[in-house]
Amino acid sequence: MSIGDDENPGQQWAGPQGGSAIAQAEQAAAAAEHAVRVAEERLRAAVDALPQGIVFLDPDGRYILWNEEYARIYHKTADLFRPGIRLADTLRMGVLRGDYPEAFGREEEWLAERLALLAQPGLRHEQWLSDGRCIMIEERKTADGCTIGLRVDITEMKQREESFRLLFESNPVPLLVYDPETDLLVAANEAAAAHFGYPLRQLEGMPAEALFAPDEWPDAQVLLACSRSEKDRFWRQRAADGSKLESVLFTRQSILDGRLATIVSVFDVTERRKAEARIAYMARHDELTGLANRAHCRERLHQMLEDQVQKPGRNLSLLLIDLDHFKPINDTFGHLVGDALLAEVARRMATLVPQSGLLCRIGGDEFAVIMEGRGTDTIELVASAIAKGMREPFRISGCNIHIGATVGLAIAPADSRDPETLLRYADLALYAAKAERRGTWKRFHRDMDAAAQEKGRLEADFRKAIRNGELAVHYQPLISLETGEIEGREALVRWHHPIRGTIMPDEFIALAEEIGLIDVVGQFVLQSACREAARWPDDIKLAVNVSPVQFRSSNLLGIVLQALSSSGLDPRRLELEITEAVLLEKGPNVSNVLKSIRALGVGISMDDFGTGYSSLSYLLSYPFTKIKIDKSFVQRLTTEPDSRAVVQAIIGLGQSLGLTVTAEGIEREDVLDYLRTAGCQQGQGYLIGTPCAADDMVPPMQRRRALKA
Ligand SMILES: [Mg+2]
Repeated sequence: MSIGDDENPGQQWAGPQGGSAIAQAEQAAAAAEHAVRVAEERLRAAVDALPQGIVFLDPDGRYILWNEEYARIYHKTADLFRPGIRLADTLRMGVLRGDYPEAFGREEEWLAERLALLAQPGLRHEQWLSDGRCIMIEERKTADGCTIGLRVDITEMKQREESFRLLFESNPVPLLVYDPETDLLVAANEAAAAHFGYPLRQLEGMPAEALFAPDEWPDAQVLLACSRSEKDRFWRQRAADGSKLESVLFTRQSILDGRLATIVSVFDVTERRKAEARIAYMARHDELTGLANRAHCRERLHQMLEDQVQKPGRNLSLLLIDLDHFKPINDTFGHLVGDALLAEVARRMATLVPQSGLLCRIGGDEFAVIMEGRGTDTIELVASAIAKGMREPFRISGCNIHIGATVGLAIAPADSRDPETLLRYADLALYAAKAERRGTWKRFHRDMDAAAQEKGRLEADFRKAIRNGELAVHYQPLISLETGEIEGREALVRWHHPIRGTIMPDEFIALAEEIGLIDVVGQFVLQSACREAARWPDDIKLAVNVSPVQFRSSNLLGIVLQALSSSGLDPRRLELEITEAVLLEKGPNVSNVLKSIRALGVGISMDDFGTGYSSLSYLLSYPFTKIKIDKSFVQRLTTEPDSRAVVQAIIGLGQSLGLTVTAEGIEREDVLDYLRTAGCQQGQGYLIGTPCAADDMVPPMQRRRALKA
């Protein structure tokens, strides 16, 4: 633009040398003047080319030189710029023209401040203009007292700063700015203040250490001094009220206000971690009792056995505990009572197990205890205490509930060092204890394993037997003791094993019940027998045994209906034989099923009467049509007066209740005679007829003749 006093001509003078000298001097002067002008033009071009605004002021603060950018920045007063004009005056005009919003309402004050800065240059400062731009001003004095002023348009930077400030302050993520040199927090946002529970003003300027758990600080200090993002590292932090927080921290180093600082983003994972911890706890514990669950029990057992290698001479014992008679409680009183009982059982058991032992609930009514480093005697005492302790009644919802517990015990390293084997051994011991007498405990013994392996083989064979049709139904006659005529036949299942030969039901029915195949067997027998009986004369009935397990697990009524309809057998010709064990299956189900079956016309026989509880109330509360006197009484009839009394009583009972009475196990003539004389209506036994396959049965007419003869 303008430079110096460029209208000022070079001095006109004449030297003493006269003409040519003058001419020479004039030439030189002209050349010099030209050179100056060229230099000036170059300077102006150079100054104009600068991206910053530049102004030169003389010692009085008057304009000497300015560039295009300077005039562009101050375009509201650029028309006034002239060499020799005072900056103070253009500033005042600028204020009047409203170019300096910061001066509104305090014009004189603002001018004084601005001129003070001009008088004492060196201090960078910012100046806002009315068009929204922000100018950074830097002024310096030259040696001769002039001022060189630099103007940089920092509007964009200020906008970025503002955006950053907004982003920082209103960010929902808690953010902190940390000074690695002083370990202080130099800034924080509202979210951080809320997260840590401090007023924002208190947070800013606070030592960063105060936000961390004391033992975390050394690591945290390292983290805060660098840029890092570890999303899997959970930092334990502290809130203002001392509560514990867990956070994932991301750090980013940056230069803020000319200083190295770390921006810290805080991601609160407290709730997530609590939820994770809850889930982890739930995955390892039983909700109802709060005890360790099956997975946890297994894991601990594995771990402890592994550790045991390092601790020779120490025992590790595993107790498996099964509650006795728990299922009927659930069925009779409902699950709420069942659950309350289990919780109470867990509480009582905990008092019987040493503090160092781990008590677990590994199934519905199955518990386990893992104990370490105790003498065999102590371990056995605990097993016995649990079995005994569970016998005492439990008071639940105002009722006294009696259950019990059977315990199986295996000890490492004596029995096995392998966790799975130890579990199996404890289970075998439990099984053996249950088979012998519930409510007791047993320690594993080698023989149990052999028996279990034998059972395993039998089980595999039995599954095969069903597929291969190795099961067959045999029939044993029941005769009228009065007429000697066959009145019915009892269907009895046989297993024709390809190697072992014929196996009797008492050897495999319990197994079938245990491995869940009793329904298949039961259905097979019922269907085959009904089909067979449909071919017999109409006056011959069919008796089929039903296992208690069939009442528990299957749709017995459906199976009976199907067998009847597919065979066409008259329901009145079918009798189901049940034992008292069926009636111990408490709950409305048994009674309903029995009533429904009876309603079809099917007879219901009480099998093996006299051996179980023989509760007379059973005879009255269920729809029985027949009592079968157990063979143990029948066989001792002629030798034992007591047995005679029992048989006599049952016959009398049957007569007065209107039930048919059948004597089982008749093997001798004198027994047969006695029963006939005593008024027993029906008989069954080897003397009368052995069970045989349908094909081998003596035709009824022949048989009748044989007996009558
Ligand atoms: Mg029977």
